[in-house]
Amino acid sequence: MAINKTDLLIKTQETRNALGEDDHSPMDIFSLVQQIDKLTIVKYPMGDRLSGMCVKGNYNNIIVINSKNTLGRQRFSLAHELYHLYYDDNMTAICLNSIGSGNDIEKSADQFATYFLIPPVTLQQKIKETKRLSVTHQLNIDDVVNLEQYFGVSRQAILSRLISENEIDQSFAETMKTNVIQSAVSLGYSDELYRPSPENKQYMTNGYLIKQINEAYNKDLISNGKYEELLLQAFRSDLVFGYDDERGETFD
Ligand SMILES: [Zn+2]
Repeated sequence: MAINKTDLLIKTQETRNALGEDDHSPMDIFSLVQQIDKLTIVKYPMGDRLSGMCVKGNYNNIIVINSKNTLGRQRFSLAHELYHLYYDDNMTAICLNSIGSGNDIEKSADQFATYFLIPPVTLQQKIKETKRLSVTHQLNIDDVVNLEQYFGVSRQAILSRLISENEIDQSFAETMKTNVIQSAVSLGYSDELYRPSPENKQYMTNGYLIKQINEAYNKDLISNGKYEELLLQAFRSDLVFGYDDERGETFD
């Protein structure tokens, strides 16, 4: 069965609107999801083949993102998991790194993720403008880098999208699967999008669970020992032992 792309596009627009975003701009998805009620985001170094998982419960939903993947890929994985959170009836999903593979639910989640982060109308505008200025009227490697930077996605994510839109072919895509960082930094971009989370940030929990632990402690529902134990289990030693960041904080 083929996935219903039109339906998935509408779902991305619904979700973007529900989160207060317009339906065409690039977005900071990790910031955006923090407003989702009862959602905990865990960054965790998972196996090489995995991108993330989504576990839904009555009281708390958890999305886990593989922090060994690049930031661009993590952003795509998070959008993919939002599909499981909102539109998948199953309570648990474990997701692979390869984009566009797996069963129809996985394919739908990937299609949702690409539409969510790369809205079709904006992509077409960008491509049209790029081709207008180009001598060959074809996308080249620099154009691909510019697009992935604009939308904040990984090389795999932008290439698979451009192939599915018939903007590039498979053999041209193959040439762009290596020297990814070099191709971007030589155009003046930061390498941040192409790097995994720094090692001291590969284990991190944000969102509802941390709020709940603090609320339980403030209401004397749990002891200080339990409070610290729960935070440590959630990789938040910073909240137990204080920030080890010697630079301190800045109010600016
Ligand atoms: Zn999935």
